[in-house]
Amino acid sequence: MKTELLAALRNAQGFVSGQELCGRFGVSRTAVWKAIHKLKAEGYRIEAIPNKGYCLKGAQDVLNGEELESLRRTAWAGNKVVYLDVTDSTNIQAKRLGEEGWPHGTLVVAGRQEAGRGRRGRAWESPEHTGIFMTVLLRPSFLPKQASMLTIVAAMAVAKALRERFGLDAQIKWPNDIVLNGRKICGILTEMNTEIDAINYVVIGIGINVSNERFGDDAAAVATSIVMEGGGTIRRAELIWAVWEQFELYYGCFLETVDLSGIQKEYNGYLVNRDRQVRVLDQKDPFVGTARGIAEHGELMVETEQGVRLVSSGEVSVRGIYGYV
Ligand code: ATP
Repeated sequence: MKTELLAALRNAQGFVSGQELCGRFGVSRTAVWKAIHKLKAEGYRIEAIPNKGYCLKGAQDVLNGEELESLRRTAWAGNKVVYLDVTDSTNIQAKRLGEEGWPHGTLVVAGRQEAGRGRRGRAWESPEHTGIFMTVLLRPSFLPKQASMLTIVAAMAVAKALRERFGLDAQIKWPNDIVLNGRKICGILTEMNTEIDAINYVVIGIGINVSNERFGDDAAAVATSIVMEGGGTIRRAELIWAVWEQFELYYGCFLETVDLSGIQKEYNGYLVNRDRQVRVLDQKDPFVGTARGIAEHGELMVETEQGVRLVSSGEVSVRGIYGYV
């Protein structure tokens, strides 16, 4: 009932009487009072006035299953939400749900990760209360080789949500990082389970640093958070849905052609390395060139003296000449 109660308070213009809530949910006044009490304990500011009822005055940055359910406005992304206070990694959990047959759109969100990961098994710092750790499970019908483009689609969604809804000057570092003022605030990890020519499921994990004030040795040189960049207070649940609302739009656009032709121009406009010199750290064949933007299938186009080279994300990292970007 907590979820419905929260939604009722949120949708009310001012106070809702205890009696009305009892009637609506078919429960006693004590049950309503207890549920209100629980919400308060979780950080919601609810005013209670005799004969008037209850009014939601605001909330701290609460993140839990009820908060997420009651703020959802997406069409299908997050149609099922699994919220975990602590988990190993939301990608691991989403893959487990993928094996168990959970539907397209299922979203796993955690308050903290104990084994958060980036690409190539590297650790992703995931401390409690400070960040967003979430993974969506998709069951697309396109081919496995097309799935890596989803990282680009997700990066676009995060950058756009941060820009449009929160006024932050987010940029993208190809292929999977979002940066603010040249430092990394978000990483994306796409993984999949496939047959020879079909996808069983794809999981897209997104980690966003919201209110971190410091980072450990591994990340300190490159990482930042929204708060560290002066981005003000952001409620994680709102940012989560802003991202998935944008994701639905860009995913729809991607599905029309199953390539990035509809997104390419906008993505390139956000590309932090665009027209800058980059080092392509390919283990076998590292080189330097000027990044020109992405091609239709998500490769980075890098201009060199020998011509334009298309770099696929796979095992490659791209850095600026003097540092991270
Ligand atoms: P590259 O730029 O080399 O391709 P990447 O963007 O693929 O790297 P990921 O694998 O996505 O990097 O993320 C792992 C790396 O990110 C770690 O090695 C660490 O340096 C850094 N990192 C770890 N935790 C965080 C965090 N919370 N915020 C920002 N950066 C982090």
